[in-house]
Amino acid sequence: MSETRMDGCRARAFALSMLLMIATYLGVERSHAADDIPEWRKPWYQEQAPFRIFGNTYYVGTRGLSAILITSDAGHVLIDGTLPDTASLVAKSIRALGFRVEDIELIVNSHTHSDHAGGIAELQRLSGASVAASAEAARAMERGRGERNDPQYELGDTIPPIDKVRVVRDRETLRVGKTEITVHYTPGHTPGGTSWTWTSCEGERCAKMVYADSVTAVSDDSFKFSGDARYPSILADFENTLRTIESLPCDILIAPHPEAVDLWSRLARREAGSKDGFMDRGACKAYAQAGRQRLHARVEREKAQQHQQP
Ligand SMILES: [Zn+2]
Repeated sequence: MSETRMDGCRARAFALSMLLMIATYLGVERSHAADDIPEWRKPWYQEQAPFRIFGNTYYVGTRGLSAILITSDAGHVLIDGTLPDTASLVAKSIRALGFRVEDIELIVNSHTHSDHAGGIAELQRLSGASVAASAEAARAMERGRGERNDPQYELGDTIPPIDKVRVVRDRETLRVGKTEITVHYTPGHTPGGTSWTWTSCEGERCAKMVYADSVTAVSDDSFKFSGDARYPSILADFENTLRTIESLPCDILIAPHPEAVDLWSRLARREAGSKDGFMDRGACKAYAQAGRQRLHARVEREKAQQHQQP
């Protein structure tokens, strides 16, 4: 390399580092990053005004990622933390409802991908809450990454590691004040996936609430739901999960991705005056059935591809 070209390189590198410094200083670094976010993911970062779903259950997530607050006089439960970058929006929503982030006693999670567990470390730091998870999810939380049996492992997703995660058993009931929330191991989308059920009341009327984990059979390019040495029982586990979800007492279904349970049209229905806009006793069955159809279609595709290989 000639000296002049070297100088040119240095000058460019210097100019670039100055630009980066100025950009960081002005806080435009993040908005530049936002330009790189694909259109379909933008709602994940979009602020959403919090609202009551039913009784003591509130939506405190972003437009595209759910976070649920279940309140009580003796402390709150938070389900899911959204992304690392949007944990502050969750905290802001909780405060906007008039609750204290410091009053969260327990944080739980649907699954350990960054769009649902990424904000938990920060929300734990802000609240001092304890975190509870299934055995597989607890390992992933503590190491900040799932293991090779996660169908999306090779996509390289990571989360800020979460300290001191308490392992809870399948069907165990956790108590915070008057809130009783039950653990349902629902592996499939990830090996540690978990769904949660509780009851919320408005006066005499009570609703069976379900936060069902994602049931999409999505993976990196290498994983096979039809049979993979890294997670040999995945298909049977996934089918079992779908049976679990469809058999839950289910008046109001919420899920990590709100559009997967028509949350926004349900909210619109309620805002249009239908008091029970969120209620749909068939929602868990429909959600499980849609997941089953996608899983079977995926397995068929994998088998067809195997046949094509020489
Ligand atoms: Zn996921």
